[in-house]
This record gives sequence, structure tokens and C-alpha cells, in this order.
Amino acid sequence: MKNIVAIYPGSFDPVTNGHLDLIHRGSKLFDKLIVAIARNLDKGEALFTIRERKEMLQAMTSQLDNVTIDSFEGLLVSYCIEQGANAVLRGIRAISDYEFELQMALMNRKMEPRVETVFMMPAEQYSYLSSRIVREIAKLGGPLTGLVPTMVEERVRDRVAHRHISATGKHLL
Ligand code: ADP
Repeated sequence: MKNIVAIYPGSFDPVTNGHLDLIHRGSKLFDKLIVAIARNLDKGEALFTIRERKEMLQAMTSQLDNVTIDSFEGLLVSYCIEQGANAVLRGIRAISDYEFELQMALMNRKMEPRVETVFMMPAEQYSYLSSRIVREIAKLGGPLTGLVPTMVEERVRDRVAHRHISATGKHLL
């Protein structure tokens, strides 16, 4: 039997129920799954630091023995080789994800043919869910129930509220 080690890369700012759905599916399929927070993704201003995102991911996956959390910088394929990984796990939500994901998967394959990209679909109720939408709903004071775990919801609300107060300059801590 082959030992399949997969890397699940992303920004996870913050981890959502969609990410967790994929992590559970991946942990059943692969011998080992490394959830890797990309340090160099430019997605505008981050809500959480890499360390905070790691803490939340760790807390949410502690019951999964073959899942570990890490972070990386630079080329994903170089990180895969460094970790002895032979697969990359990515999620496909809507058709809109496909074009970007296809381009990335083919480019990664060109750079490193030993690493295969595997796509998985989340449960339907998560197919419209992204970290960006969670951050936006939180900023506008909307409900996050069912989108992220309760512990993450509390941390998001806390962070957004604190940011808002700081931005007004009235209650700087
Ligand atoms: P986002 O900010 O879009 O949530 P990330 O960079 O953290 O994204 O995503 C990492 C990976 O997880 C990507 O492959 C992305 O397609 C996938 N992903 C994110 N949200 C979901 C979801 N709700 N269902 C399935 N896959 C998802």
C-alpha cells in the first residue's frame, strides 16, 4: 500500500465549516493530512495572525489523529517535497473556483510532476461559504451560525468589535 501524505493549503482566515468538511473528508482518504497556512497569500488585510489561525485549526481538528497543522512560505510544491507529500488537497465550491484551481494545479504539476492535486467537493450547504464572506458578514453584524464553529464565531466577533472600536479612536486599549 502507498503512503499518501497530502497538503491542504489555504489562508484559513478564519477556518470555516467548509474547510472542516474538507479536512474530515481528506483525513478519511489520506494516510496523513497536513493543513498548511500560506504565509505569503496577498488577500488584503488579515483578520487573524498566522499563530491565531493555527490555534483555531488545531483546536478544531484535535480529534483527528492523522491531521497536523503547519504554515509555509514560498512555493507550495517546494513545501510538498520538503514534507514528503505526494498530494495537494483543494476544495471546489462553485464553477467559479474551477478556472483558478485548474491553472494552479496544472502549473504545480509542470513544476513538480511527483505531486498530484486532488479536488473535493464540500457538503452542499458549504458550497457558497468562504472566509471572506464570513469576515464581511461579521463586519456588518450578521449571523455566523452554521458557517464557522462556535469558538471561531466568538473570536471573529471579538476581533471585529475590537477593530471597530480601535478604528474610531475612542476606546483604544
Ligand atoms: P477562502 O478564503 O476562499 O475560504 P482559503 O484560501 O482559506 O479560502 O481556502 C483554502 C482551500 O479550501 C481552497 O482550495 C478553497 O477552495 C477551499 N475551500 C474554502 N472554503 C471551502 C468550502 N466552503 N468548501 C470547500 N472548499 C473550500
